[in-house]
Amino acid sequence: MKKNEEYIVTCIDENRMGSGIVKIENQVVFVPDLLKDEVCKIKIVKVKKNYAFGIILDLIQPSNYRIKPLCPYKTCGGCQYMNVDYVYQIEMKSRQMKELFHRNVKEEIQVLHTIESINPLYYRNKAQFPVQVKDGQILMGFYRKHSNDIVSCNECKIQSKEINNIYQWLQSHISIQQAKELRHIFIRASKNESQVVFIGRDDSKFQKLSNQLMDTFPKVTSILFNFNNRKDNVILGEEYKILSGRDFIIEECMGNKIQLHFKSFFQVNPIQMEILYQKAIELANLKKDERCIDLYSGTGTIALAISKYVKHVTGVEIVKEAVDNANKNKELNHITNCDFICQDATEFAHEHKNDNIDVLFVDPPRKGMTKQGIEDIVTLKPNRIVYISCNPDSLCRDLNVFDQNGYECQIIQPVDMFCYTTGIENIALLVKK
Ligand code: SAH
Repeated sequence: MKKNEEYIVTCIDENRMGSGIVKIENQVVFVPDLLKDEVCKIKIVKVKKNYAFGIILDLIQPSNYRIKPLCPYKTCGGCQYMNVDYVYQIEMKSRQMKELFHRNVKEEIQVLHTIESINPLYYRNKAQFPVQVKDGQILMGFYRKHSNDIVSCNECKIQSKEINNIYQWLQSHISIQQAKELRHIFIRASKNESQVVFIGRDDSKFQKLSNQLMDTFPKVTSILFNFNNRKDNVILGEEYKILSGRDFIIEECMGNKIQLHFKSFFQVNPIQMEILYQKAIELANLKKDERCIDLYSGTGTIALAISKYVKHVTGVEIVKEAVDNANKNKELNHITNCDFICQDATEFAHEHKNDNIDVLFVDPPRKGMTKQGIEDIVTLKPNRIVYISCNPDSLCRDLNVFDQNGYECQIIQPVDMFCYTTGIENIALLVKK
């Protein structure tokens, strides 16, 4: 097989990155956007030692699950499944999760069907739009796939309508002078409140715009300027200034009020978040006399939600603003059996060896946990561990380490938090062997 050759092929499967898999002369070729059973003319664009990449030239026989893309922007690279029927997205994710965990962890794990979203569009509550000025024009929107070019969009189908409205207003009200000072604009929208953070070098030209924004959008309660002079591509800087309102918004989660600082993590799909936590609580089978730990606790959403089912919960989180939020949230909701500690999760586990707790919740960032971290965590000797993960690959790796350290994964529940994209959240229930 050589570059630029053309073939007529039938797709045999999809991978988890949104590509179809075809076989030519017994070699695997990945073709972006191709679905199982589709017949297609492809061109080979890259040949590696054990596999190759192709692109679709002509779709001869489309899948029944292919739909007209809901979004006109093909180039932003955000949604891999904009042209795939939602029911089939769920089927694909379910099939892929079963295969992944059975093949890479254990055949015996019960991998449940993916829980779909009743609201698969306009769900995201957070956006970070890059801003640039090029040839006297303001560019703001999303990065093009694998690049730093900005694709300007009028609307994003997976962002909340409030975020789309604020974004459109900003597009038509920001001046070139203002745009030159900016690197990104961060917008977060809760059920009743929204927050806008201008991220850049100099805040001096933003007060009037901020006042106007506040007057135009009644839900906006927090507008900030975050100073970022960094040379790397980290989006947020340390220092910030309040332009209007306050530095947090209030969200609701499982009946609790959640104060949310802009530096604190929060799940991006608020509807599915509650379904995720409800499922996690069910799987944990909590009892009133049990002591729990919530590692990587963020603003305390999980700890506060489980507090009513157990005796005591300790939340551990490394971002100070998130721990401040969690403590405030405990107060706001009149909860007395939770404590929050600002510490590295692994360090905490190391210091609390042999504490004998009953149930452990872990919800780490994408990279998952370290081997040492897991070895320390098992010394807390929980009976059950509920591991919530947004990255199936790091979850697989970590489940194997847990297994070597006496904890067996019994059930995995995938939840579709990232509809129209390849992303998937999983809850894993582990029990002491
Ligand atoms: N459970 C929360 C947050 C999950 S996101 C929720 O669902 O809202 C993961 C969290 O881990 C983030 O809040 C992040 O700040 C925190 N974190 C990252 N590294 C950490 C570490 N080494 N120790 C403790 N917390 C950490």
